[in-house]
Amino acid sequence: MKHFNSFAEYLRQVYGCRVQKISINIPFSCPNRDGSKGTGGCIYCNNTSFLPEYTLQFGSVAQQLNDGISYFHKKYPTQLYIAYFQNYTNTYARLDKLRKFYYEAINHEKVVGLAISTRPDCITDKIIAVINEINRIKKVFVEIGIESTKNNTLKILNRCHTFEDVKNAVNLLRNHNIWITGHLIFGLPGESFDDIIFHAKNISELKLQSLKLHQLQILKNTPLHQLYKQEQISVKPLNLDEYIQWVIHFLEHISPDIYIERFTSESPPDTVIEPKWGKIKNYHVIELVRKKMSELKTYQGKNFKKL
Ligand code: SF4
Repeated sequence: MKHFNSFAEYLRQVYGCRVQKISINIPFSCPNRDGSKGTGGCIYCNNTSFLPEYTLQFGSVAQQLNDGISYFHKKYPTQLYIAYFQNYTNTYARLDKLRKFYYEAINHEKVVGLAISTRPDCITDKIIAVINEINRIKKVFVEIGIESTKNNTLKILNRCHTFEDVKNAVNLLRNHNIWITGHLIFGLPGESFDDIIFHAKNISELKLQSLKLHQLQILKNTPLHQLYKQEQISVKPLNLDEYIQWVIHFLEHISPDIYIERFTSESPPDTVIEPKWGKIKNYHVIELVRKKMSELKTYQGKNFKKL
């Protein structure tokens, strides 16, 4: 039984081999840090926590791609790559700068596509025109930080955008036939297991192509860490078993058409205050999810109700 719709398998079918994302670290800013939307950023955000080792030095895009490819080459000599603009808000810069970075990435012979992570309120017609231009040459995957479909939660997180902003961004991208990935976090302040069905319904209605799921992590040097330490926020970090239960409940209620890209964050353990899962990798969590779904004889979309 196929338990969920795997993005990795989709890529393998399309490109005929394993496809790996390579993080590109460009010091873009973020409207939630520079004051145009907010200051201080989202309460859980610590950008350095999701930088793989090979991106710790800023280099040119080509240099970072070459470093990343050499890092993986020994183990996977024939695989291809997606250049992943991951940190900060990767559509938040002058258009000529963005175009230059994006082109530098797709011009690499081993790169088959571009993944661009951004906020829903940083998708404009002008940005879409640039993305469309790139998308005609190599596939572009636009990753939108949704995090929660509840506006109350987004407010607690200081995201400085609403779920309506997400719907607007998705509609704009959809009009241009661009692949949309959503990013969601489970275990957010004030949210419970019962919110999962609400999120599943809202996410399915967006008709995204793919999704990334993450556990909330309380990271060092973040406002969330301070709030947690001072007991000023209601949050209960999920242990691994609980998280897997939440993920499976969610998968059962979402559309079977959505591809699932990731199941976990891999922040370095020394940056994580809670939950302490150790040095767990995404593929470990995938195995655990598959094993549990197999025991429960369940699958993605089992309880999905098409409207
Ligand atoms: S999570 Fe993203 S949107 Fe929020 S502060 Fe960090 S970079 Fe900005």
